[in-house]
Amino acid sequence: MSQPLDTLIIGAGTAGLAALREVRKRTDRYLIVNEGPWGTTCARVGCMPSKALIEAANAFHRRHAFETFGLRGAEGLTADIAAVLQRVRALRDQFVAGALQATDTLGAARMAGRATVLGPNAVDIDGTPYATRSIIIATGSRPRVPDEWLAFGDRILTTDTLFEQPTLGPRVAVIGMGVIGVEIAQALARLGIEVAAFTTSPHLAGLKDPTLNAELAALLKEEMLLHTGAPAELREVPGGIEVSSGPNRVVVDQVIAAMGRVPNIEHLGLETLGVPLDKRGMPAVNPQTQQIGDLPVFLAGDANTHAPLLHEAADEGHIAGINAMACALTPAAAPAAAPAAIPTPPTPTRFQRRTPLAIVFCDPQVAMVGKRLADLDSAHTVTGTVRFTNQGRARAAQRNRGALHVYADRATGRLQGAEMCAPAAEHLAHLLALAVQQKLTVHDLLGMPFYHPVLEEGLRTALRDAARQLADAANAPESDLASCPALGVPALE
Ligand SMILES: Cc1cc2nc3c(=O)[nH]c(=O)nc-3n(C[C@H](O)[C@H](O)[C@H](O)COP(=O)(O)OP(=O)(O)OC[C@H]3O[C@@H](n4cnc5c(N)ncnc54)[C@H](O)[C@@H]3O)c2cc1C
Repeated sequence: MSQPLDTLIIGAGTAGLAALREVRKRTDRYLIVNEGPWGTTCARVGCMPSKALIEAANAFHRRHAFETFGLRGAEGLTADIAAVLQRVRALRDQFVAGALQATDTLGAARMAGRATVLGPNAVDIDGTPYATRSIIIATGSRPRVPDEWLAFGDRILTTDTLFEQPTLGPRVAVIGMGVIGVEIAQALARLGIEVAAFTTSPHLAGLKDPTLNAELAALLKEEMLLHTGAPAELREVPGGIEVSSGPNRVVVDQVIAAMGRVPNIEHLGLETLGVPLDKRGMPAVNPQTQQIGDLPVFLAGDANTHAPLLHEAADEGHIAGINAMACALTPAAAPAAAPAAIPTPPTPTRFQRRTPLAIVFCDPQVAMVGKRLADLDSAHTVTGTVRFTNQGRARAAQRNRGALHVYADRATGRLQGAEMCAPAAEHLAHLLALAVQQKLTVHDLLGMPFYHPVLEEGLRTALRDAARQLADAANAPESDLASCPALGVPALE
């Protein structure tokens, strides 16, 4: 091995690219290596193509409201699935091209190949060992598919292959109704594909609040067959694949495995690091530094399973990049003339993580902010509720479905979190995430401006409901506008 690198980044997804940005500010003695296609999971097969598909599905589904609006002719509309998928791929290609720009000009610092860790200061890339002062592991995750399902060949789809299909259906089973399963199952159903969904977990789209979960289940059942509880089993039958779960059976043309994702950590050589690994083979990772133990090794993004979301992967890559360089460029580790362009702290910095925020792009959207109901002590928590059935703006738009729950500390009124299955939840959730991170109380929020007529007035209804239940509700001050009550007129709320 020649002169060691300052860092070696394994994986050029969102986390690896975020790390790369920090590393390049501080050194030119680095390598980034990626196995398989470049362009990131998000842009290639994840967030972006799935959202492009969902937009087409929701646009087509909107036709069911046309008669109510007084718009005629909806029955003449058809979904050309092949054309829908073609648009998804065209957009996907543009998103991927953008992501590729981050690594296209790196020259010899960019390598294609499989990396394996040989120890805290060495990595093998396709048979060639590299010495390095630090390592950033950002290897992401992949869809989980039971081995025995591989016998069904290309009729078993995952999000890695779904968007590549020339067309889909007409009968599809979706197995697993977590975040990805719910998004894809509803999108396909809305495009006119016959969808049967199966899930062992009662929690759809990751919702832990039982009332909201039941609400989502009821809404999804209007659009597809949904079976929860027993595991799904597959069997070849004349005319297709039979999917059975308890007493329920359907025959389909394709099966989408949406049973979660597996971190890409096996065969990565983590056992050479000399730290304890759990039964999945995962070392403990400090979520504030991304460091493994006190090694110069950092594990970021989906690969560590902490919060497999894009903004978290980007944050973790950023943290890992800064901290890997802190290890590499300490006076003890670095050569005398280390090309540190900007000052780097000598030890890993502990970063304060953002308020948890997760959004599921079904309709109504699902979102979770801060603490979930299941994380909170019910004796010290109040839940403020709004149902959107009667909310003025939601009714005007024919989108009056779903509900939102805000959770606040009973004694202090401080907002703890929220869960919702609600129209435009992506926006309501951001507003609430800002409030939770700013440590605002229900009272603080009720003192903020609310325009009319907007969906945020629904959020205000939930906040007022929470305010009435707070320990000091009887002594609510009248000296500011936070105690301004509802008018009791649905059209004005
Ligand atoms: C269908 C779908 C929809 C999603 N929607 C959303 C959404 O709406 N919002 C959201 O926030 N998140 C969403 N996500 C999650 C988001 O895409 C991920 O959290 C994010 O892409 C993870 O980035 P990463 O850098 O950790 O991994 P990746 O982008 O997967 O990058 C890891 C890279 O490492 C490479 N690699 C693996 N092993 C090795 C090795 N040994 N040597 C070299 N290279 C290796 C891989 O090939 C890959 O290129 C979605 C995911 C999917 C699948």
